[in-house]
Amino acid sequence: MPRRAAAPAAEPDRAAEGASARARGPQQALRRLGLVRPEDLALHLPLRYEDFTRVTPLAQARDGDEALVEGTVLACDVQPGARRQLVARLSSDDGGHVTLRFFTFYPAQRQMLTPGARVRAYGELRGGWAGWTMVHPRLLKADAPLPQGLTPVYPTTAGLPQAYLRAAIARALPRLNWEETVPAEALAELPGAAGRVWTLREALHFLHQPPAGTPLQVLQDRAHPAWLRLKAEELLAQQLAQWQARQARAQLRAPVLRAAADGLPAQLEAALPFALTGAQRRVAAEIAQDLARAQPMHRLLQGDVGSGKTVVAALAAAHAIDAGWQCALMAPTEILAEQHFGKLVAWLQPLLAPRGLQVAWLTGAQPRAARRAALQAIEAGQAALVVGTHAVIQQQVTFARLGLAIVDEQHRFGVAQRLALRAKAGAEAAGLEPHLLMMSATPIPRTLAMAAFGDVDVSTLDELPPGRTPVVTKLVAEARRAEVIARIRAQVAQGRQVYWVCPLVEDSEALDLRAATATHAELAAALQDVRDAAGQPVRVGLLHARLPAAEKKAVMEAFAAGQVAVLVATTVIEVGVDVPNASLMVIEHAERFGLSQLHQLRGRVGRGALASVCVLLYSPGEDGRVSEAARERLRAMAETTDGFEIARRDLAIRGPGEFLGARQSGVPTLRFADLEQDEPILEWARRWAAQLWRQDPARAQAHVQRWLGACVDYLKA
Ligand code: ADP
Ligand code: MG
Repeated sequence: MPRRAAAPAAEPDRAAEGASARARGPQQALRRLGLVRPEDLALHLPLRYEDFTRVTPLAQARDGDEALVEGTVLACDVQPGARRQLVARLSSDDGGHVTLRFFTFYPAQRQMLTPGARVRAYGELRGGWAGWTMVHPRLLKADAPLPQGLTPVYPTTAGLPQAYLRAAIARALPRLNWEETVPAEALAELPGAAGRVWTLREALHFLHQPPAGTPLQVLQDRAHPAWLRLKAEELLAQQLAQWQARQARAQLRAPVLRAAADGLPAQLEAALPFALTGAQRRVAAEIAQDLARAQPMHRLLQGDVGSGKTVVAALAAAHAIDAGWQCALMAPTEILAEQHFGKLVAWLQPLLAPRGLQVAWLTGAQPRAARRAALQAIEAGQAALVVGTHAVIQQQVTFARLGLAIVDEQHRFGVAQRLALRAKAGAEAAGLEPHLLMMSATPIPRTLAMAAFGDVDVSTLDELPPGRTPVVTKLVAEARRAEVIARIRAQVAQGRQVYWVCPLVEDSEALDLRAATATHAELAAALQDVRDAAGQPVRVGLLHARLPAAEKKAVMEAFAAGQVAVLVATTVIEVGVDVPNASLMVIEHAERFGLSQLHQLRGRVGRGALASVCVLLYSPGEDGRVSEAARERLRAMAETTDGFEIARRDLAIRGPGEFLGARQSGVPTLRFADLEQDEPILEWARRWAAQLWRQDPARAQAHVQRWLGACVDYLKA
């Protein structure tokens, strides 16, 4: 460092400035990682550890060991060639030899490896009788004293050196407020704790600064008492926060929506063309009970694709309307909203008309006059049920008295949008909040529902309407595309209908469209000579996000009416479409789709009594392989049609953060606990959360603050 030492002493200010700018970099990086308070730092756990506590004599080393060796540099050269490398020979003190290789290297490393110098090298030992090798070892000075404990390696980010982070955490540990927030009685019941439960302090010290001699295996074992303690803390914090959110919600008031015994719900049920399934009946009763209370309902209705959620929503709306209130139903796409609208009009309009009420339709794409009429009817309260897209939550929309808000495919909306809908109660509802019913076709595994939706009641439709034949799923390599097309010809000739789904090309609607257009042309050509039962040439339709709404609608209607035999579509058909005569679905580049998306798509077939098939066409990537995760997804699809099992596997493949979309759900991702493995701890946390709030609210609050800090407000949204 001669140059820095020679910096002119006459400019102390600038030198100090330089130093603080240097410190600011890592400081900012710390903040970017959310590592601000001592708590945050203490809870930032190592990814792995390095053992610099002892020098391993080469004679005792085993192949594959991570070890610290010490010795004298015999030679050091840059070897030229296709891959230039720095190669050094080291002679260890016990007479062994090791070769050190660097494919990228810096002057400082060459300097440390000057022949004759003594040096320590840490890395994975490879080889044996042909001589030991280390690739990219860490080089350390040979004369320094050895550390007392294992050295943690933390997850970090650009501009935040390991050493800086390590020092910041080491400083934070003793500054932590160690006051115990979990009562001993609770800890005594912690599942998996054989014997004494570790204190938080012990657990953190152990994981940040494991004593010399701790086997690395022990540190990775998440059943270790140190880990158990952290998982318990984390899950408890989360359940406490949710309990708090639930209490806050219980303070709110909502209109009591109780229908007359012979009112709209009863009339609707009598008018339906089918009998409700047992599950629909049960779930509808759960919802009716919530609606009849003066606290706002906060309920998630989950049911696999095709389980019949719409009619349950219609029954809920009927309760609201019968009680004299309005209901809004919001869906994420125009096609889906329109399908809902179609059904709800058919079911409810005949019952509403005699009361001078109507079902209104609201979307961004509708003609101005129709929109104005809808807005007026909504403001006057005459539109008893309003169905639409995001347009429903726009500012110009004013309800007279909104009593119930229903959100379909709720995970496709953000927290802000759900809040906006709830804020629309209307002037006549002063001080009252509407009830909220969220619907999802992506069943959420029980553990995740408990962790993420602790403050939401969950109703589940676990039964499909009768007369459905399970879909058979086949995995077919792209190389056999011609066979698949031959199969389509045969199906179409029998009067069956087919979906062909093209993948979304990442970030490019244009490419996406081109691929779909090409496939459309290919299929149209391949089916050119096929006639349907009436002797007419079969038609192939194309549905794409870029089509104007009117054309989308025309294509959809032609397909629903059976005039189009094959519908080539991008994922716009993902949700909602209901064409019982469609019995074959081909999903192209199935390896690119997410598991729940595949499951949703597959749910479009098998809607009638016909035996249906879903063909997952997959193409290996450039390296001739399909990625491991993609293979797992395809395998799951082939092995099960059960939405809950699919969701469980999806959770296992993706992890909860991605599964819910942390941003959308407002759920901070769990760092220590694993929802599948740690279900017993989750149950424990749920049991104790309520008790702790009652016993010692201050302590409960401190616990939540320590663990969730800034995330808490977000959770309340
Ligand atoms: P999802 O839960 O996927 O939204 P839908 O509400 O669209 O399902 O219902 C799927 C299909 O099943 C629709 O055609 C609907 O009319 C029909 N359906 C719903 N409930 C029943 C039932 N109890 N018996 C027969 N068919 C039903
Ligand atoms: Mg639906």
